[in-house]
Amino acid sequence: MPDETSSSLYTARRKADRPDRPSLTVLVPCFNEEAVLGEFISRTRPVLEASRLTCDYLFIDDGSTDATAPIIARALDEGLPGRLIGLTRNFGKEAALSAGLDHVDADLVLIIDADLQDPPELIPEMVAGWRAGYDVVYGLRIDRSSDTLVKRGTAGLFYRLFKRLSPIDMPANAGDFRLIDRSVVEDLKRLPERNRFMKGLFAWVGHPAMALPYERPSRAAGRTKFNYWKLWNFAIDGLTGFTTMPLRVWFYGGALIALLAFLYALYLVVRVMVFGIDLPGYASLMVGLLFFSGVQLLSIGMIGEYVARLFAEAKQRPVYLVQEIIGGRADRTTSQD
Ligand code: UDP
Ligand code: MG
Repeated sequence: MPDETSSSLYTARRKADRPDRPSLTVLVPCFNEEAVLGEFISRTRPVLEASRLTCDYLFIDDGSTDATAPIIARALDEGLPGRLIGLTRNFGKEAALSAGLDHVDADLVLIIDADLQDPPELIPEMVAGWRAGYDVVYGLRIDRSSDTLVKRGTAGLFYRLFKRLSPIDMPANAGDFRLIDRSVVEDLKRLPERNRFMKGLFAWVGHPAMALPYERPSRAAGRTKFNYWKLWNFAIDGLTGFTTMPLRVWFYGGALIALLAFLYALYLVVRVMVFGIDLPGYASLMVGLLFFSGVQLLSIGMIGEYVARLFAEAKQRPVYLVQEIIGGRADRTTSQD
C-alpha cells in the first residue's frame, strides 16, 4: 500500500481540526441495571474527571422495572452531570441507542454498556484515537472467554455469514462499545430505517475507523438481557437488514433445480424409448415431492422475513417513545417547581 492514501489524507485533516477541549457525552443504555449502576458510575467518574474533556452522561432507561431510573435520578440530583431519558416501555437496546443518539449534542459520543463489560478505563485511549483523526474508535473483543462456548460459536458463525452475504464491511467481534465523532452521529441520524441493527448501521456510514482491542470481562453484576431466542432474532435482523442475498439465491437454486429436472425428464424419455414402459417409481416421486415442498416452504419463509420487515417500515412507527427527560441544560434553565 502506498504511504499516502485517501484515508490518511482525511485523517490528517481531521487531526488538525480537532478542538482542544471537546465535549463528550457518555451514552449508557440501561435495562434493569440497578445492580451495577452504582459501580458503573464510580468507575467511570474518575476516568472522565482525569480527561481533558467536558463530560456528561446520557442514560437511557429502556423501560426498566427495577430501581434503575431512581438510582440515576438520585445521582443526577447529587451533581452527576447529565440527563436521563426514560422510554415508555422496553424497546430493546438498538432503539435505546437510537434514542440516545437523537438527543446528544456533544462533539463526541461514547457508547458504553452499563454492566462494565466495556472497561471505562479505555476511554482515554479511545479519545487519543479520535485526536489522531479517526471519527470512530471501536472496541474489538480479542478475548470472548467471558461468553459461553455456544455464544462464541454462534457469534463466529454469524460474522462469517454476514461477511459472505453482505456487501458491508462490518468488523467481526466489535460490539457497540465505541467513541464516535459528532459527524458520524449526524450521518447515523439520516438513516430512517426501523430495523436498527446498530453494528451494521455503524459500518454502513463508513468514516475512518480505528479498532482498539480489549479483553471483555464478565458482567460486574446482574444478568444478561439477551437469551438465545433474542440473539437469533437479532442475527436475522442483522442479515435481512444488510443483505438481500437470501432473496436472490432462490433464483439460482430454482434455475439449478429446473436444469436437473430437465435432464431427468430427458433421461426418462430416452429410457422409455429404449426399454419400453417401466413400473412407475413411487420412491423417487415421494422424495422429489417432499424435498421440493421443503424448498418451497423455506423460500416462502425467507420472503416472509423480508415482507415482515417491509411491513414494519411501511407502518412508519417511531423507533422509541420518550416518557420523561430528567436533568440536563433545558431542565435546569426552565425548572420552576
Ligand atoms: N439493554 C437495553 N435494553 C434491552 C437490553 C439491554 O438497554 O432491551 C442494555 C443493558 O442494560 C446493557 C446493554 O444493553 O447496558 C447490554 O446488555 P447485556 O449486558 O444484557 O448484553 P450482553 O453484554 O450480554 O450482550
Ligand atoms: Mg453485558
